[in-house]
Amino acid sequence: MNIVILRLFHRKSRDKRVTTHCMLVGRAFGCSGMYYCGEEDIQLHYTLDKVRQNWGGNFFLKYIDEPKEFIKGWKKKDGIVVHLTMYGINILKLEEKIKKLYLEKDLMVVIGSSKVPLDFYKIADLNIAIGHQPHSEIAALALFLDRIFSGKELEMEFPDAKFKIIEENHAKRVTKTPESLNNY
Ligand code: SAM
Repeated sequence: MNIVILRLFHRKSRDKRVTTHCMLVGRAFGCSGMYYCGEEDIQLHYTLDKVRQNWGGNFFLKYIDEPKEFIKGWKKKDGIVVHLTMYGINILKLEEKIKKLYLEKDLMVVIGSSKVPLDFYKIADLNIAIGHQPHSEIAALALFLDRIFSGKELEMEFPDAKFKIIEENHAKRVTKTPESLNNY
């Protein structure tokens, strides 16, 4: 099934890099797209367009106004809502349950930026801690996806990519498709 991210309360100046990195992690590691609320930020959309043009895929980014209503709507459509927070239940205890849920239902992964109001803890189906120390939404998201996909996401490729990396130990090697060569 699908996994989408909901990034709460983006602040254009303070969160631009972190929100961008959440989006890139989501795209690289198997999510279908990211919703965000807070301040609408056209720069995030430009960045994603550029990444998609070069590296492929159809990861989406959508701004939403009312995150709580959006979550309620998701649940009504039988989707599961997982909130990542250091206060939640340790992923070690929930990993198998989430893997099973993912086989049957779409998952929304909620990550915060500033303080997340308690309502979101209540509305989520599961509050999951990636360890109980404060760290980062980027790390929390990456580790969560890695647990769900058991490392398979690290082999992901996008068939429509213009560039493809050929792995090397001591060099940087990239192949370009004929389409991309026409553009240079
Ligand atoms: N200062 C904010 C607060 O008190 O709520 C938290 C800021 S934290 C950098 C931003 C987000 O990272 C959190 O909302 C949560 O989604 C994620 N995060 C940080 N540490 C986490 C952990 N140990 N487990 C799961 N998520 C975590």
